[in-house]
Amino acid sequence: MATLIDRQKLFFAFSPEILPAERVQQGEEVVLETHDCFEGQIQRTTDLVDSLDWNHVNPATGPVYIEGAKPGDVLRVELLEIKIGDQASMVTIPGEGALGDVITEMETAILKREGNTVVFKDKIRIPIQPMIGVIGVAPAEGSVPNGTPGPHGGNLDCKLMRQGSIAYFTVGVEGALFGAGDFHAVMGDGEIVVCGAEIPGELRFRAKVVPELKGLPTPFVETEDLVATLYSAPTADEAADGAIHNMAKFLTEFVKIPLNDAGMLMSIVGELKFCQVVDPQKTVRFEFPKWVLKEYGFSL
Ligand code: CA
Ligand code: ZN
Repeated sequence: MATLIDRQKLFFAFSPEILPAERVQQGEEVVLETHDCFEGQIQRTTDLVDSLDWNHVNPATGPVYIEGAKPGDVLRVELLEIKIGDQASMVTIPGEGALGDVITEMETAILKREGNTVVFKDKIRIPIQPMIGVIGVAPAEGSVPNGTPGPHGGNLDCKLMRQGSIAYFTVGVEGALFGAGDFHAVMGDGEIVVCGAEIPGELRFRAKVVPELKGLPTPFVETEDLVATLYSAPTADEAADGAIHNMAKFLTEFVKIPLNDAGMLMSIVGELKFCQVVDPQKTVRFEFPKWVLKEYGFSL
């Protein structure tokens, strides 16, 4: 039986100061129930963003204290299963997001779940691809609001954070203080109007420290067929630069590919992609195929 942490145990900033909701062993299965990013405040199309209590936006569940995790360790978090609720919400906010300069009307859309789809405006059936928006560990110092992504993770809004993926974070404080929230039934790269199909959910995970990966440039994510470095910065250019250099670091230092070869391979089989361009820091990822790592005799 997995340890269950209910969605009332929430927090709004990743920080060393926040008391753990639960302490678990490495490798123990844990289920986190999560609110949507509005903490359930938006249920119908008449619930507009001007009625939101912004102190209750972007809750994450936890934090979870992982026994034995120490600052500098790399924490490997297996995203074993992601479940989502029955309906998602979306909003437009004039002045916010990548179209905030032209969007003038607040609007709320409710997307009901029908099997493996959500229904947009009663007609467009969109296949769900559940993912986690906010995921990470406490930074070594300071407090980072859940709406902001960074080296500790946070609001990365990366669609690779999905069932079956493995996320890696560098531990900032004893116990790591891991948490997650802000699930999306589906989201496109970029997250143009600052939301995906926002939905409550449930994550089953297990976490453990991986000594041989100490120094891994994190946040880092592994799917069935690729690995990716994630980097957040005030501009997309800086974020891209960071993600690219972190992948080069991983390929040279961990996979032991000479730098020129790593660069050439990144140029022909690597993919630079946006996670989101709408949060206080932009997040870009660099993806690299695992089959090439295998050719070099490397596996994570
Ligand atoms: Ca988000
Ligand atoms: Zn979200």
